[in-house]
Amino acid sequence: MIRSGDRNVIVIALACASELQIEVYVAFSKGKTYHYIPDHAIARALGPQRSCALPMFHTHTETDTMPGVYHQSKVTVFKQWNLCNDLTGVLLTLVDHPSTVTTTEVMGTIERFIIVVYQPTNSETNLNTMRRHMFTHDRWIPIDYLQHAMQHSIMSCSKEHMYGGKGIYWIQFFLQQFLNQWNGLGAHQDWAYPDGRYCRKHPSYTGWYPQKMKYKSTRGGSSRLSFEDALLSGFQPDGGILLPESIPKVSKETLLSWSKLNFVELAKEILPLYIDESDVPREDLNGILERGFSRFKHPDIAPIAKLNDGLNIMELFHGVTLAFKDLALSCVGQFYEYFLERKQKHVTVVVGTSGDTGSASIEAVRGFKWVDIIVLLPRGRTSRVQELQMTTVLEDNVHVFRVDGTSDDLDYPIKRCFTDAKFATENSLCSINSINWARIVIQIVHIFYAYFRVCTSIGESVEIVIPTGACGNVTGGCVAVKMGLPVQFVCAVNDNDIVARTISSGEFSKSEVVVPTISPAMDIQVPYNMERIWVLFNDMDITPVKQLMEEFEEKGSVNVPQQLKNKISSVISGYKCTNDLVKATMKRCHDENDYLVCPHTAVAVSYHYHQRDSQDEKSTIPQVVIATASPAKFEEAVLAAGLTPQPTEGILALDSLPTRYVDMEANMDWDLMLRNKIKEITKRCS
Ligand SMILES: *Cc1c(COP(=O)(O)O)cnc(C)c1O
Repeated sequence: MIRSGDRNVIVIALACASELQIEVYVAFSKGKTYHYIPDHAIARALGPQRSCALPMFHTHTETDTMPGVYHQSKVTVFKQWNLCNDLTGVLLTLVDHPSTVTTTEVMGTIERFIIVVYQPTNSETNLNTMRRHMFTHDRWIPIDYLQHAMQHSIMSCSKEHMYGGKGIYWIQFFLQQFLNQWNGLGAHQDWAYPDGRYCRKHPSYTGWYPQKMKYKSTRGGSSRLSFEDALLSGFQPDGGILLPESIPKVSKETLLSWSKLNFVELAKEILPLYIDESDVPREDLNGILERGFSRFKHPDIAPIAKLNDGLNIMELFHGVTLAFKDLALSCVGQFYEYFLERKQKHVTVVVGTSGDTGSASIEAVRGFKWVDIIVLLPRGRTSRVQELQMTTVLEDNVHVFRVDGTSDDLDYPIKRCFTDAKFATENSLCSINSINWARIVIQIVHIFYAYFRVCTSIGESVEIVIPTGACGNVTGGCVAVKMGLPVQFVCAVNDNDIVARTISSGEFSKSEVVVPTISPAMDIQVPYNMERIWVLFNDMDITPVKQLMEEFEEKGSVNVPQQLKNKISSVISGYKCTNDLVKATMKRCHDENDYLVCPHTAVAVSYHYHQRDSQDEKSTIPQVVIATASPAKFEEAVLAAGLTPQPTEGILALDSLPTRYVDMEANMDWDLMLRNKIKEITKRCS
């Protein structure tokens, strides 16, 4: 009896059932929905040959991340398998000798199969004629689909367990072959048939290799956007946010080689996977990253403090404003400067902050020529130092509003500006909240870095505990998981526990109010990255997500489908820490290690202690706790924990600086104030 909801497992079980002549039952779910299927019965129906070929067939037509065959149902694909006489033989050969994928015969059969999946009427037998037929047919088959399918096919054959490490070599070799053949046929240009028929270049032809990284909205309204588009836009007109169209996988060899890199070197390897060379040439990208991280005060960028009792704390707060948001935003600022200078275009960035994003964004762009920044902060709900870090910046391109409301309240006027597509375009609005993909992509780097610093050996699992608010940090983490990094996450939350509740119960429902806590950067009502996490764990398929989010936005609550919920909770768990426990944890950590943590970090450290203290939850896998801010920023919390603040010199200096800001009182029209400010900036800069 195998218990799993994973199709890959069923497929492998089927193959084994047939080969070993055993009875295999696959069980799903538990409680009322518990059921199982006799896998061996299916195996018998398929027959021994097709059962054994099934894993190969499955990897060719679908993986856990995306369908290999675009826009075709599994049923269609199965039907064609029945009609394609020599496919089973070829798949069986591949099961035993994966390297034969490079032979023309094997690849020819697979290509023939893929062509008929798309064009069942193609009855030619000669491969070249089949290809021609596709091109001259009046209903064009988008070349992207075919390319995708072929590339996928080759990729799946090169999966490590089959190739023993030669995967990349074969992919390159074979793609080159494939490319030459198609280019030889003139797929990339207009060409004439010998009999005079004229064939125009396929309209959707976008080049062969490498496939460009593009972005799509989580709700289906926007697609094929470049990294630059993604950087310069916020919420999409359909209300969704952006994600890559697909997530690149990294092999174990790559992981091994990456594990030896320092932080900036690692960023230089990961970012090019998400930023097309045609968007930002590699050299320029390296320069952007170097400049972005140049203001960090620690040579390691993200050093790890190894404390007593297996408590590893990764300090992400060595940037200018002493919070982890500096990591991503300092690079995002550089990206802005780079693209806007190139275009000679001005933009207005609008940011809602619960404390750290505002100051880090201001630092990232203060004094820039092509960017103005408007920050809305929740008055009285940030720490004194956080507010001063924003209000003491006097550069002309920086505009700060102190709002009489919570950090969620102030998101509404901002969101309304962005969803008014005409207004957003006319005023070149941009967002650098963690809805901006550029931030997420940089936050992938420290997850890999943390893994490499604490794992026992590459390939072994690591647990990363993240103080969580809007889930920007953990979304970077989920992307890393989808790339192939074996990590487990714990989302540690404060009294605003929507994330932990959603993970454990599957019910995504916002609470009545935002509870102000001692860890204000995590005081959120709606973690807007949740829809990204859903898409990532739903094999990049957005279909159910649009519906889920619409229902959530209408009713304030929605149930995550069981299967999706299970996939998420196999990687992420939640942990809630109350305000009092935060203080006690700060104290305990200081007493045991003479080490101060900020009230956000303490939420995660508290999980560590919880786990150590309870006998049965002892875990053997290495763990790292993410420190999202420096305790120096949160003197009120340090005092409340009965400890003595340790301010930095920079923080002491803030007190004597002049300030500038405008207050938005509860009875004022926030929409109007914000819009007027935006229009005023646009007028000045045009
Ligand atoms: C922003 C922030 C968080 C929450 O991070 P998310 O990516 O929004 O989950 C936690 N701690 C601190 C100090 C922060 O600034």
